[in-house]
Amino acid sequence: MRRSVDKYAFIERALAERKGSDQFRSLQTLVPDPSDPVIVYRNGRRMLSFCSNDYLGLSRHPKLRERAAAYTRSHGAGATGSRLVCGTFDIHARVEEKLARLYGREAAVLFNSGFQANSTLLAALAGRGALLLADKLSHNSLLQGALLSRATFRRYRHRDLTDLERRLRATVGCYERILIVTESIFSMDGDRSDMDRLVELAGEYNAFLIIDDAHAVGVWGEQGLGLTARQEGIDLVIGTFGKAYGSFGAFVLCAEPIKDYLINFCPGFIYTTALPPPVIGSIEAALELVPGLEQERAYLHRLSERVRSRLGGMGFDTQSSTTQIIPILLGDEGLTLSLSRWLEQHGILAAAIRPPTVEPGRSRIRITLSSGHTPDYIDYFLRILQGWNGAKG
Ligand SMILES: *Cc1c(COP(=O)(O)O)cnc(C)c1O
Repeated sequence: MRRSVDKYAFIERALAERKGSDQFRSLQTLVPDPSDPVIVYRNGRRMLSFCSNDYLGLSRHPKLRERAAAYTRSHGAGATGSRLVCGTFDIHARVEEKLARLYGREAAVLFNSGFQANSTLLAALAGRGALLLADKLSHNSLLQGALLSRATFRRYRHRDLTDLERRLRATVGCYERILIVTESIFSMDGDRSDMDRLVELAGEYNAFLIIDDAHAVGVWGEQGLGLTARQEGIDLVIGTFGKAYGSFGAFVLCAEPIKDYLINFCPGFIYTTALPPPVIGSIEAALELVPGLEQERAYLHRLSERVRSRLGGMGFDTQSSTTQIIPILLGDEGLTLSLSRWLEQHGILAAAIRPPTVEPGRSRIRITLSSGHTPDYIDYFLRILQGWNGAKG
């Protein structure tokens, strides 16, 4: 008989470790309310959600659903192939043209998700011999891309462009080329990068500048075009349709030759089935709606400010957030779980973010606001939060 090797031992060990340190994660099943974008049902119980990225409530918008249905009727349920083989339909080409025009850039490329774009773009753009400089708190998808790229990879201190400049200065002449990559708005902290300074530094050191604008598109900037809109000197912008756009998929904005390069060299674009017609339909409808949602955006920004200031008044630490993403830093994991449970008991869903997503001692409840949060919803949330005495008692 063959010696039996326990080939599953590593799985059991890893899971036991997670469970032992209270970091084990599992999925929770929700049923979305058909019309209210901030309401979900868990085990039949109505819950007010502060954890979705549906910043403008578009996921439930009739126009997105109608166009998704219309494109399913006219083009079918699937794209039948990858973009380079037979998966580029007229509707894909039209959406890319629309994107480029709307965002005022030479070209746009659709990707199946932001994660897919980030994790393969960097590998295509930064190879051996290149230096890749990224913000310390960059999204995991960018980290994956950086690791895949075989470039020398260094992370500068979070939002610290003096540290970035120091690293740029120290490496002049050592690399074939330099790439800088960062988010405009950070997903765990809700704070922002200094876009003007980044552009300046990239110009000065002739670095290729990549901005992940995932949490800004739809929400920030003129017409909701994000924090990179009309900004010269950014070589590549990544946006997602999975957040404020209420749908799914992602896009890259760049110059025409960079688009051609990605079509030829980016595996995450080449070796995957194109986005299906219903998704393209909802993206197109969202692209028509988003520029006109100025009131919703203004409301959301006012709301964010009000919530941050009320939280501050209650003694909560919201860190350097200046956006619709608001961390409530508690530090301790147990305390974080206790607040999360308190909120749940009162019908509120908010994400408890713990290691390994954030560093130990940096646990937090992260709330994300949406224009779908009515003043009543917000008042209720603040009242419940006020009633929690975990921190004080
Ligand atoms: C959500 C997110 C992504 C991934 O986008 P998906 O389209 O959801 O895959 C990439 N970057 C950042 C900063 C994000 O927050």
